[in-house]
Amino acid sequence: MKRIIILGAPGSGKGSQCQWIAKFYNIPHISTGDIFRKNIKEGTALGKKAKEYMDKGELVPDELVIDLLKNRLEEPDCVENGFLLDGFPRTLSQAQALSYFLKAKESEIDAVIYIDVDDSEIMNRALNRRTCSNPNCKAIYNISDNPPKKENICDKCGSPLFVRDDDNEETVSKRLRVYHEQTEPLIKYYEEVGILKKVQGQKVFQDTVELVRAALNS
Ligand code: ADP
Ligand code: ZN
Repeated sequence: MKRIIILGAPGSGKGSQCQWIAKFYNIPHISTGDIFRKNIKEGTALGKKAKEYMDKGELVPDELVIDLLKNRLEEPDCVENGFLLDGFPRTLSQAQALSYFLKAKESEIDAVIYIDVDDSEIMNRALNRRTCSNPNCKAIYNISDNPPKKENICDKCGSPLFVRDDDNEETVSKRLRVYHEQTEPLIKYYEEVGILKKVQGQKVFQDTVELVRAALNS
């Protein structure tokens, strides 16, 4: 049983780290961004509302996110095994809501992994990012550092890759600004709780894996 939060700027590579962490601890990887994108694809009311904000690089309002996340955490896989949160919390009020929710269940977060990456590096990565369109795979590639063997095709599952709507220069700068303003304060918040583990993001994916592994074991 592990309850982990992964924190970092959009494009810091936390989504890629989540894939091995979730497998390693056998916990569900819960990405609020993925949940919204799924809703957008399915054309749900939630998806329609969320898209307005996401396309502008803004945060979806807390009231749309918090209940959604709480409902997800009530599902048996999370209750039985724990969870890995990716993209949540993103504001202090989300962090506080999560903390109250867990406290009421006499539960708590075991670790918060913070992946630190420079803004300039993040911009490069976002513009080169391709994501697998298969929702059960979600593999992530970088067309300069980690390209798929066949152009635009996922190595793992053969599905087509796509560029996320929000991976363009204007939206990425906006998201970085929003991150510094609204999400960065969570670093101090979890530092004070005493569960923050800071990892310097590395150029080579596997090097970051080793640092995250060490942090989770510490
Ligand atoms: P990245 O992986 O690049 O950090 P995400 O996939 O996590 O981006 O999120 C994409 C967008 O979805 C965000 O820019 C934001 O608009 C919205 N979103 C995702 N999670 C949250 C959240 N916890 N609170 C508010 N908005 C969110
Ligand atoms: Zn795939």
